[in-house]
Amino acid sequence: MILKNCSWIVTQNQKREILRNKDVLIDDEIIEIGPNLKGEEAIDCSGKALLPGLINAHTHLAMTLLRGYADDMLLQDWLQNKIWPLEAKLNEDYVYCGALLGAVELIKSGATCFNDMYFFGNGVKRAAEEVGIRAIFSQGVLDFPTAEFKNSKEAFKIFKKLIKQKSELFQPAIGTHSPYTCSEETLLKAKEIAGEHNALLHIHASETRKEVYDFLKQKGKRPIEYLNSINFLGEEVLIAHAGWATKGEVAILGKTKTSVAHCPTSNMKLAVGAVAPLPEMFENNVNVVLGSDSAASNNSLDLFREMRLASLLQKAHRWDATLLPAQKALDMATIDAARALHMQDKIGSIEVGKKADLILLDFKKPHLTPAHNIVSNLVYSASGSDVDTAIVNGEILMQNRRITTLNEREVLEKAEKAARELVGP
Ligand SMILES: [Zn+2]
Repeated sequence: MILKNCSWIVTQNQKREILRNKDVLIDDEIIEIGPNLKGEEAIDCSGKALLPGLINAHTHLAMTLLRGYADDMLLQDWLQNKIWPLEAKLNEDYVYCGALLGAVELIKSGATCFNDMYFFGNGVKRAAEEVGIRAIFSQGVLDFPTAEFKNSKEAFKIFKKLIKQKSELFQPAIGTHSPYTCSEETLLKAKEIAGEHNALLHIHASETRKEVYDFLKQKGKRPIEYLNSINFLGEEVLIAHAGWATKGEVAILGKTKTSVAHCPTSNMKLAVGAVAPLPEMFENNVNVVLGSDSAASNNSLDLFREMRLASLLQKAHRWDATLLPAQKALDMATIDAARALHMQDKIGSIEVGKKADLILLDFKKPHLTPAHNIVSNLVYSASGSDVDTAIVNGEILMQNRRITTLNEREVLEKAEKAARELVGP
């Protein structure tokens, strides 16, 4: 297939080159980039910008079923009285319906890969496969009972079954929920199992003030200090949030090459009270990437919003308009995210030999005109609804905003029905 006459190709290669009026020849990989290429099937890309598909590094996809169900509440009240009681009723079918809705939403807003942390991974796998999206599923691990397992031992067993189903588009990982819901023994077991299977480790830490100070009281250490003291951190670890990280903890993240998934909307909406110290993280070479977190705390999965907000939040918080420029925000959602997920050889940029995970945005729109600086327009002016085509592993999953792999209306009806059942009258 040939992507003909792309007005812009935002390569996100090492030099961050932007190519004008070129073609891209693909099969499941990017074969050639240049002028006047020949291919059997062609998509006209004039007036459009071709980008690497965005990567959502921290989601709980099935929680789309709880979108808008409980907002404007204090975090503990929200979790204990609204979210956890419903999560206790989850099963694979609910997770499938929610993940299917989430996967369609991701594709329609330009994300072609996501890193989920949740339960009932087979439901997420089925949904991701039906849509055709690239998925990493971090098997949730906690010491207390959930709808899926009684304890962490059972959770590890489920992971070991899931890992056997690893494929080109589905990659299992371990999602130890947090240092306050997993014992030291559980965390170290997770580290060991992840090592055996060359899997990623995904964890929440230093999200809220309460969490950090409760933890400090109990263990005498802050969460990231603690994770370092038990040798949990490392290149395979991705920490969601880390908003309350101190300078010392940021240095630890840098030294251990631990990545951070920053979720600005969720942090603001849940009023976690901290703005992640991104400038210090960048100074310490911490790889910071972007996540939407769940649709219950966001309430959207649109990474274009997340890029914009991440940038604005740093500028507003530090009184410094030079912080987190547009190019860096785009890096966080593409090539940096690929690196955090150890997939930088496969995805995150448009280069020959990489997988054809690509999106096209229609730029013939008032809010995207003029295009003095296309990256600026992408981060500050565009939204997910400007994405008109999405391709994963060389397969077109959406064209002219129509999902090609399934009937979108049926997905919405299924999700609506599941959400009503779950929430009750
Ligand atoms: Zn989360």
